[in-house]
Amino acid sequence: MSTKPNSFQTPIGTSDLLPLGSARWQATLQLFDEVSTRSGFGYLSTPIFEDIGVFSRVGEGTDVVRKEMYEFLDKSDRRLALRPEGTAAVCRAFVQHHPVTPWKVYYHGPFFRYEAPQAGRYRQFHQLGIETLGSDDPDADVEVMALAWEMFQKMGLKQVELSLNSMGDGDTRLQYAEALTEYLNQHRDAIDEEDREKISDHPMRVLDSKRRATRKVTDEAPKISDFLSASAIAHFDRVQDGLTALDIPYKVEPRLVRGLDYYTHTTFEFQSKALSAAQNTICGGGRYNGLVEELGGPVTPGIGFGMGIERLLLACDAEEVFPAPKSSLDVWVIDVAGGSHARDITYELRSHGINADRSFDSRSMRSQMRSANRSGAPIALIIGEDEVAAGNVALRSMLDNGVEQILIPRDQIAVEVLRSLGSRS
Ligand code: ATP
Ligand code: MG
Repeated sequence: MSTKPNSFQTPIGTSDLLPLGSARWQATLQLFDEVSTRSGFGYLSTPIFEDIGVFSRVGEGTDVVRKEMYEFLDKSDRRLALRPEGTAAVCRAFVQHHPVTPWKVYYHGPFFRYEAPQAGRYRQFHQLGIETLGSDDPDADVEVMALAWEMFQKMGLKQVELSLNSMGDGDTRLQYAEALTEYLNQHRDAIDEEDREKISDHPMRVLDSKRRATRKVTDEAPKISDFLSASAIAHFDRVQDGLTALDIPYKVEPRLVRGLDYYTHTTFEFQSKALSAAQNTICGGGRYNGLVEELGGPVTPGIGFGMGIERLLLACDAEEVFPAPKSSLDVWVIDVAGGSHARDITYELRSHGINADRSFDSRSMRSQMRSANRSGAPIALIIGEDEVAAGNVALRSMLDNGVEQILIPRDQIAVEVLRSLGSRS
């Protein structure tokens, strides 16, 4: 491919989404809309950029905020950031609008992180997410995880696994962090250098590490489950009961802790066994307290998840499920009698809810037939001078090599096309 000087490409780590891949994308969003709406979640749209404080205040110390955030000054020197994640913005909206609780919302859209781009890791990526704010009920945790699970089921994914853990409450965290820090310091030399510096400020983030040397050490680390209070255990038990009642398989993964201070009780991740380790987490979430407060609101518990759309679709590719549709069209209209028939018929079909398109520029029969084939439409309608004279249209099935053809009356087109489409599905 030749690159002309002065031509442009998408910035590193971003991509265009073209038809028909975009139709699959839209089908994913539509499914998420349906699943969320059915469970009582309402769609929330927040700005792509926010005051930088929204993210920096709650994500202090994380790589996402420290190293990966796209931040800038606007023309009035306001410090803004392209949103790197969804939860903080949802909490900001909650504080701003003080809605009735529990507030159940879902969102989707682009997020931005200055990462090293690779398969499944981009600088502009997209998430589906939900949050329930204002309830401590463990059933709310189950509802959130069940919704993610429902997405996977509806998309046909079979190799997704749920890992679950409890971080307990504030006291649990403190005691555990102390014990963990002591253990990690004892094994300091065996820990990967990159992770060593986290021990003093963010010991739990060492557990998150995927580096092999570190993992060897953390395999044997004290487990947070041994530090849970009675009420934290009760919460966790109820969550597990709920998952079992809904037939959602899970495994408890004691190392699954979230680094941020505001995470409490349930943390979870869904991983695809069909993807390699660097990109196999397709959804992560958990319960947080203190986040709303951190943003100036009342003490409000919350639970939610963020799901990477690109990774979700990579998992679908790997399992060969939820394919892109072959076509968005039902009918291709071929007119070799001047073009006005194609014009009128496409509009007529569209007014009956039939997806229809046509060739322009008075192409030859052969060229229009090629377009019909390329379009993937299951039906071609063909109008030549003979058909016009007889008040007919030829309806050709484009499946099975497109040989089967019948004549239908011009004034019955929509009915006949709908009948033909119906007999296929
Ligand atoms: P990872 O450990 O893979 O970096 P994370 O813990 O940073 O993930 P979250 O902040 O929990 O991810 O985001 C939720 C989901 O969004 C992830 O599970 C993943 O599916 C997706 N995601 C996160 N960062 C990216 C990215 N840079 N590109 C594509 N998808 C991403
Ligand atoms: Mg990350």
